[in-house]
Amino acid sequence: MLSMVVNGSEKDHNHSKHGSSEKKVKHSAHEHGVAEMNLALLGREVQIEISTPSFNLLGFEHEPNTADQKATLSRAEKAMKAPSTLFTFEGAKCAVEHVSIKSPFEQEGHGDEHKHEDEHKHKENKKAAHAHKSEDNKAEADESSHSEYMLIYHFECESSEENLKINASGLFSNFPNFSTIRTQWLSDKKQGSAKLTSKNSQLSIK
Ligand SMILES: [Zn+2]
Repeated sequence: MLSMVVNGSEKDHNHSKHGSSEKKVKHSAHEHGVAEMNLALLGREVQIEISTPSFNLLGFEHEPNTADQKATLSRAEKAMKAPSTLFTFEGAKCAVEHVSIKSPFEQEGHGDEHKHEDEHKHKENKKAAHAHKSEDNKAEADESSHSEYMLIYHFECESSEENLKINASGLFSNFPNFSTIRTQWLSDKKQGSAKLTSKNSQLSIK
């Protein structure tokens, strides 16, 4: 399992070494404007994981150099850490339980603010677990002109709701570089997928 993860991680980041055939085997292609979101509704807990090119959040993917870029990074990470402005819930009252931001950059205030994310790993599908690992290797971001963020949000809802609606319009308005978020969701009973855009930013779980 571990070696598979390592290989996957290299594939995701070594854009220059391989031709276009690489895309077929990747779990998620690195495509600017596009992000992958995995959402799990487990009892009263909603877990959202977004794997995205840094471009969608920052407008660039390299280590920030200029004062402007550093300010952009700081503004963007502040927004990433405020999920209540990124997502709204309909059908249940849900409060942020924790936030984890996996940045490709070394910096002060690294966003991994909570430690118990591993407890939830067994509930994730394999794809999500792979994506997790690929973000952990920061050294690779320096070798490539591309980089990615992983954003993990846990919400705790007041009741377990069968017909929950989650709207990501705040995410699109805060970060207009997002054009499409390919979403896979699963609940205790069902699963599905959706393509969210700024014009169609609501995910219905039912
Ligand atoms: Zn890129």
